[in-house]
Amino acid sequence: MSETKSAAKELKEKLFLDPKHAALRMEEKDVKEAFSFCDPYKEFLDAAKTEREAVKTGVKLLEEKGFRPFDPARKYLPGDKVYAVNRGKSLIAAVVGNEPIENGVRIAAAHIDSPRLDLKPRPVYEDAELALFKTHYYGGIKKYQWTAIPLALHGVIIDRNDRTIEVSVGEAEEDPVFCVTDLLPHLAAAQMKRTLAEGIKGEELNVLIGSLPFKDDEISDKVKLNLLNLLFEKYGITESDFLSAELEIVPAFKAKDIGIDRSMVGAYGHDDRVCAYTALQAILKTERPAKTSVLVLADKEEIGSDGNTGLKSAFLRYFIADLAKPHGIEGRTVLSHSECLSADVNAAFDPTFPDVAERKNTAYLNYGVVITKYTGARGKSGTSDASAEFAGKVRNLLDRTGVIWQTGELGKVDQGGGGTVAAYIANLNVDVIDLGVPVLSMHAPFEVVSKIDVYMAYRAFYEFFVY
Ligand code: MN
Ligand code: MN
Repeated sequence: MSETKSAAKELKEKLFLDPKHAALRMEEKDVKEAFSFCDPYKEFLDAAKTEREAVKTGVKLLEEKGFRPFDPARKYLPGDKVYAVNRGKSLIAAVVGNEPIENGVRIAAAHIDSPRLDLKPRPVYEDAELALFKTHYYGGIKKYQWTAIPLALHGVIIDRNDRTIEVSVGEAEEDPVFCVTDLLPHLAAAQMKRTLAEGIKGEELNVLIGSLPFKDDEISDKVKLNLLNLLFEKYGITESDFLSAELEIVPAFKAKDIGIDRSMVGAYGHDDRVCAYTALQAILKTERPAKTSVLVLADKEEIGSDGNTGLKSAFLRYFIADLAKPHGIEGRTVLSHSECLSADVNAAFDPTFPDVAERKNTAYLNYGVVITKYTGARGKSGTSDASAEFAGKVRNLLDRTGVIWQTGELGKVDQGGGGTVAAYIANLNVDVIDLGVPVLSMHAPFEVVSKIDVYMAYRAFYEFFVY
């Protein structure tokens, strides 16, 4: 009797896919390694809260590892390391491989923009002797989450004299911060009857920035005048200079360990800097790969990838063409033989909200890097849906190299949906699959990832570059 049982058990082990918590499949030293991998990741998150800051931080790390600005006129040879910055907001880095470029390249593409509040072109106003900024939210946010938390101001202003002024207020310990106010519960009876989507409306995302008047008896808008005067003294700007600015309101808090066991990281902007950082670390470690490794850190994913710094633009295509041209090869020949990991986060199962997920096909925290064969919504609309061949290649690579992975769909069928840059790269005739880190509270000001999953993402990108 017991023999039959153990044979059945054996058979079950052989035939069933039986995912387990990654920590139960890892050696203690590898778990430790995963945890320490996330210490510099937290520093990266604090230093790179906007796409521009992510590019700057990325370039610094690339330069330290011997990457040099890309020169389209040069013919690059195996082992050469280059990077190209696109308008300060997106970045491509490459390590030239041993194989001829016409054999294709291996691309990891993540995005470095995150949901936030952008200042309107005419943001400053005064009401009831308070000074505020009008904002226009960027990306998919639940607006109520952005009230009553400390906020920082980041960005760049091109002023009337063509000067570039960089702004960062709210990050240093001694800096002031800002906030969006919310109504006290005592007076919120009517507000509480609104739907959650309308609980805070777009035009109510006004950022509090000052309350002291300019001392004068004659004029109106004294608080606004005082505020603009302070900005003029500090930055030399006037109200019109906001028109030619990209100023972003982001959470002011820093990345922190979560849990008594410190197994998770909470921070603003894991989506998608968790994949940007891990893929960046992977290419920094890559030396003399067989095929050329290409890292793409794109902007504008959160608003549909349009624009000249988003992945619907030609900048990746042009970079590949420029890399190939000195070898007498067409860019399209390279792309047609290329493979890509579209590096983006996916939703992790949340036990507080189990109903939106289908438990067998959702990703879980700590189950490793998540492979998403297709994204989209309503009958796979808007996805590139990776082929069985490419999915097989990637999962076999991860199995072979001991990278712990899982599969995950974004919610139940017809529950909602979403997309990544995968489709736009697939449209260039590249084999693409989504691979990334599962996230709790995605798009919230404070998102959660597991340290083990972060580490597995890094390992996956590295093994993909060097296989
Ligand atoms: Mn994303
Ligand atoms: Mn997103």
